Amino acid sequence: MKTPLLVFNENGIYCEAAGVYLDPWRPVDKAIITHGHADHSRWGHKKYITHVSNVPIIKHRLGDINVSGRTYGETFTINNVTFSFHPAGHIIGSSQIRVEYKGEVWVFTGDYKLEDDGISVPYEPVKCNTFITECTFGLPAFKWIPQSEVFSDINSWWAANRAEGKTSVLFGYSLGKAQRLLKYLDTSIGEIYTHGAIENMTNVIRPMISFPDTTLITRDTTKEMLRGNIVIAPPSAHGSTWIRKMVPYVTASASGWMTFRGARRRRAIDKGFVLSDHCDWQGLLTAIQETGAEKIISTHGYTDIFSKYLRELGFDARTEKTQYEGELAELETKKENEEVL
Ligand SMILES: [Zn+2]
Repeated sequence: MKTPLLVFNENGIYCEAAGVYLDPWRPVDKAIITHGHADHSRWGHKKYITHVSNVPIIKHRLGDINVSGRTYGETFTINNVTFSFHPAGHIIGSSQIRVEYKGEVWVFTGDYKLEDDGISVPYEPVKCNTFITECTFGLPAFKWIPQSEVFSDINSWWAANRAEGKTSVLFGYSLGKAQRLLKYLDTSIGEIYTHGAIENMTNVIRPMISFPDTTLITRDTTKEMLRGNIVIAPPSAHGSTWIRKMVPYVTASASGWMTFRGARRRRAIDKGFVLSDHCDWQGLLTAIQETGAEKIISTHGYTDIFSKYLRELGFDARTEKTQYEGELAELETKKENEEVL
């Protein structure tokens, strides 16, 4: 039996014919990277290849690395294997990686979503024989509502808190979710303040996307200045001493996990908004159908349930173990938070 075009080994997803890894989780010589979240862009590779918009993001996270940027649809060849990046719609610069060799095509999604968030280039289906997909929210219970409705709810929540003289604290990951929240906050309600991890990452992205003005919270920021305004903070700031400055405040989280009431209660958050940068159940199924692929490999999320369902639909579907963690992993690195707390 010939070696598959992509195999899963102890370092990551490996293309033996080209001698490169896709989103490896251990240090390797050459890595092709889907996007900037910590579980996909890891430290220690000798050479990184990624989408141009992800270059400043991973440099911000990983420091002085050897990285080259490519545009969507641009092909590059390594040992006769052709690679290209295609929009994944997950966060800015996020890409699916298309790999073609001897007439066979594989696509690795990284993380992705189908809804156009107005920030990242919208997801585009890519025809392939084998589709490697995440399934973070691969259960029928996950069903997203349009983001316009979610942002309308978030702005109403903020306005109601302001009317009560309270500060609104909204949690979202510093890369991706935070900018999606920022972009659609209604600045006629009040001012937007940020935690340092979010201010720093947003400043990296500002040259590429326009966002409303934000004010970084510093030692000199007082309760009175914050009152009635909104604060965007990473989830890790919840329960920290940093947040005491906001009293009186109310908290909210924007995540796909807010589908489950228990997820909000366990985190002791006052309000949950269901907003995800991943596909919901129907999104995954639609994406899979559109690729025309006969083989489906699920990498992270509800993989076993999802693969079983796909087999019932007639796909050749299986699960591979990886170290990707989807929305759970989109936490900031410890270092990033320590710098700004
Ligand atoms: Zn991600």
